[in-house]
Amino acid sequence: MALINDHFLKLPNNYLFADVAKRVNVFKAQHPKSDVISLGIGDVTQPLCPAVIEALHRAADEMASAATFRGYGPEQGYDFLRDAILRGDFLSRGIHLERDEIFVNDGAKSDTGNFQELIRWDNSIAVTDPIYPVYIDSNVMIGRAGTKSDDGRWSNVIYLPCTAENGFVPELPQQRVDVIYLCYPNNPTGTALSRDELRRWVNYALKNDALIFFDAAYEAYIQHDDVPHSIYEIKGARRCAVEFHSYSKTAGFTGVRCGYTVVPKEVTACTLTGERIALNHLWNRRQCTKFNGTSYLSQRAAEAIYTPEGREQVKQTIDYYMQNARHIRETLRSIGMKVYGGEDGPYLWVRTPAGMTSWRFFEQMLYNAHVVCTPGVGFGPSGEGYVRLTAFCSRERTEEALERITNYY
Ligand SMILES: *Cc1c(COP(=O)(O)O)cnc(C)c1O
Repeated sequence: MALINDHFLKLPNNYLFADVAKRVNVFKAQHPKSDVISLGIGDVTQPLCPAVIEALHRAADEMASAATFRGYGPEQGYDFLRDAILRGDFLSRGIHLERDEIFVNDGAKSDTGNFQELIRWDNSIAVTDPIYPVYIDSNVMIGRAGTKSDDGRWSNVIYLPCTAENGFVPELPQQRVDVIYLCYPNNPTGTALSRDELRRWVNYALKNDALIFFDAAYEAYIQHDDVPHSIYEIKGARRCAVEFHSYSKTAGFTGVRCGYTVVPKEVTACTLTGERIALNHLWNRRQCTKFNGTSYLSQRAAEAIYTPEGREQVKQTIDYYMQNARHIRETLRSIGMKVYGGEDGPYLWVRTPAGMTSWRFFEQMLYNAHVVCTPGVGFGPSGEGYVRLTAFCSRERTEEALERITNYY
């Protein structure tokens, strides 16, 4: 008889977006003629840029001939992409990394979920609240999160509330923690940390011998100069931080699948006898065993983002989304709503009016404006009283949604 890993049974059954979809479907069944606009799901809508499409075509043609065909590639990614990353994302910002500190992957979700395998099950973890659910759920699966209490909190997870009251800047934990997950610019709140604010976290990690797992999936949306694009812009971060990148939101790669993880050689964790082990070495070992590389086509597509044309085209799409974000922010504020985020990230975090719950406001928007948002409480206890809107819709649909919301409220 095989015994199940019963940590999996602790996971909540309802996935947030399945829950949202169910309620939207109920509404649609009751109102078959209605036209529902979704500002809910965090997927992009605009097509891949021409530079990426050309690279994909070229790579596909190479696959058609024995002389240029590519089979298994390096587990860590092709050098052409790792070098483009080093130059385009780091050297250009004065950050010196080495090629073998870059691990190309099939998107940031895999690695933000998998990286915790390298540390023991009894390490303590801290997360900002609200949060991208992958960080906690992957820790639940290995037994590190403990048990879930009625208020939705896990017994072994330290929650760092991010609310309007603290300006969405998490306070340093009161107790020592081993690993801290940070995501900036943030999903779901759309807010960012300044260089000084992030420096406090790096200093905390160095002083307490903690690790920071830093998710930079929305780095390309940053507009302000004092918001760091990489945690390695902060002195000392290469001794304590691992950083996750994704082309999903940067360049519409949610269907193409490519990203990368930075594991500097100086980042270490300890054995029980106090010996320091480089995570870079362990992650390489792990990837070579469990991962067979990202497709050649995806990596050529990603490389094209770093060409001058690619950069310019990707920026245009990001500008398009960020104009949506500005439009949503200004319109909702003009009707008296409290709106946060959307300045350095593609999400708006909206306070529900008159202390309404997240789900109540969600239903009100659905039934009265036919607009779908995501209830903030689905991202963690501190998300109660907020909803998330995304800037990823088309301009026309975003404007239509705003008109309906304005008419109702
Ligand atoms: C979308 C997103 C990612 C990227 O996921 P991919 O697997 O690269 O598509 C990573 N982290 C956060 C917080 C996200 O919202």
